[in-house]
Amino acid sequence: MTRGAVARRAIVVGGGIAGTATAVALRHAGFVPVIYEAHPRGADERGVFLTLAVNGVNALRALGMDPARVLERGFATPAIALHGANGQLLAELPLGGPFPDGTATTTIRRADLYSALRAEAEAAEVPIVYGARLTSVVTGASEVTARFEDGRTVSADLLVGADGLHSRTREALDPDAPAPHYLGLLNTGGFTAGPVSSRLAPPPGAMRMAFGRRAFFGWVGAPDGSVWWFANPPRKRPAEAGEFTAESWRAHLLDLFAGEEAAEFIGASDEVVGPWNTRDLRRVRTWRNSRVVLVGDAAHAVAPSSGQGASMALEDAVVLGHSLRQRGELGAALAEYEAVRRPRVEKVVAYGRRSSSGKVLGPVGAAMRDAVLPMVMRRLHRKGDPQAWIFEHRLPALAGS
Ligand SMILES: Cc1cc2nc3c(=O)[nH]c(=O)nc-3n(C[C@H](O)[C@H](O)[C@H](O)COP(=O)(O)OP(=O)(O)OC[C@H]3O[C@@H](n4cnc5c(N)ncnc54)[C@H](O)[C@@H]3O)c2cc1C
Repeated sequence: MTRGAVARRAIVVGGGIAGTATAVALRHAGFVPVIYEAHPRGADERGVFLTLAVNGVNALRALGMDPARVLERGFATPAIALHGANGQLLAELPLGGPFPDGTATTTIRRADLYSALRAEAEAAEVPIVYGARLTSVVTGASEVTARFEDGRTVSADLLVGADGLHSRTREALDPDAPAPHYLGLLNTGGFTAGPVSSRLAPPPGAMRMAFGRRAFFGWVGAPDGSVWWFANPPRKRPAEAGEFTAESWRAHLLDLFAGEEAAEFIGASDEVVGPWNTRDLRRVRTWRNSRVVLVGDAAHAVAPSSGQGASMALEDAVVLGHSLRQRGELGAALAEYEAVRRPRVEKVVAYGRRSSSGKVLGPVGAAMRDAVLPMVMRRLHRKGDPQAWIFEHRLPALAGS
C-alpha cells in the first residue's frame, strides 16, 4: 500500500478453509479483512479427515504459511493402493511428491486443519467474528453491505463469499444459481479408538481404498497405530436429517460391510460420523459482481473423490490475493481472478465427478471396472503421472515478494 493511502476493508463470509486463507491473502494485498463465521467458536467441524494434496501444500507456502506448522498434526500419505471388489490390488496411485523440499500430500483431521488455519489468520491480525450468519448482501456504487442473522450490518469495499457448498453469497449474486448436485453416494467415517491389530492396520501413512462388495471404503494407518477410515455407501436418494440414529447408522454399516475388513474398523471406533450427502456443483455462472466474489466451495464444489476441494480453495486464495495486489481497480482484479481460476477448477470438478461415478456401479459394471482398470491405469502411467496437471500447478508467491 502506498504511504497515506486508506486501506480497503473486506468482509470475508465463512471461516473455513477458503475464508481463512483468503483473509490472509487479502492482508498481503493491503486489505483489512474481518471474517464472519456462522458457527460459534469451538463448534465441531463437520467431517472427519481430509487429504491435502501437494498443490494445496504449495498454496499454503505461497500464502506465506509454513506447511510444517499448519499441517503439524497431520502425516504424509504419498500414495493410495486401490483394491477391487474381491480385495485384489487394482492400482497404486501416487498422490504427488514427496518433493525434494519435503512437500508431501498430507492427511489431517478436519478440525485440526480448520483450527491451524484460523490461528494463521489470527496471527495475521485478522479478527474472526463467530456466530455471525450472513443473510443478505447489497452491492452499492461505493461499498457493499452485508446483513447478518443477528441483525448486525457491516459495510466494506469488498465482500468475499467463502461460505461453502450452500453459499448464501452465491444465492445473493444470482438467485438462479444452481443448487448442489447429489452424486448418489453417502459419506461417513471415523477413527478407531486406539491401535488396531497389525494384521489389519496398514503401516503409518499407507492409504488403502477398496471398491468393496457393496460400498467403497478407504482407510489409512495413523502414526499412533490407529486407523482413520471413510465409506461411501451408494444410495439413490439423499439421506434426510434425522433419518438415522447413531446406532441405526452403525448397524447399517456393519451389515453393509459384513465379512470385510471395514467392519472391523467400524466396530473399533467409538463414534461413527455421518452420514452426509455427497454433492458437487455444476458450473456456477456468476462468481462476482463489482464488489462481491466467490471462493472455494461457494464457487466450485468438487466431489470429495477428487481429493482436491481444500487445495482448490487455497489456490483460489492465492490467485485472488495476487490479482488484487497487481491490479489497482477492483473490477479488473476480480475479472482476472475468475479468468485464471475458472478453467482449472471446472476441469477438476469434471475429474471429481468421473472419480465418483466408479463408486456407484452395479455388480456387472463393477466386474468390468475391476477387469479393465488395471490395464487403463498401466497405460496412463506409462506416459507419466496422469494427475501431474493437478499436483504440479504453479502459483505466484504472495508473501515476501
Ligand atoms: C466427506 C468429504 C470429504 C472430503 N475430503 C476431501 C479431501 O480429502 N481433500 C480435499 O482437498 N477436500 C476434501 N473435501 C472437500 C473440502 O472439504 C472442501 O472443498 C473445503 O472444505 C472447501 O472449503 P470452503 O472454505 O470453501 O468451505 P467450508 O470448509 O465448508 O467452509 C465454509 C464455512 O462457511 C461457514 N458458513 C456457511 N454459511 C455461512 C453464512 N451464511 N454466514 C457465515 N458463515 C457461513 C461455514 O460454517 C464454514 O465454516 C471433502 C469434502 C467432504 C464433504
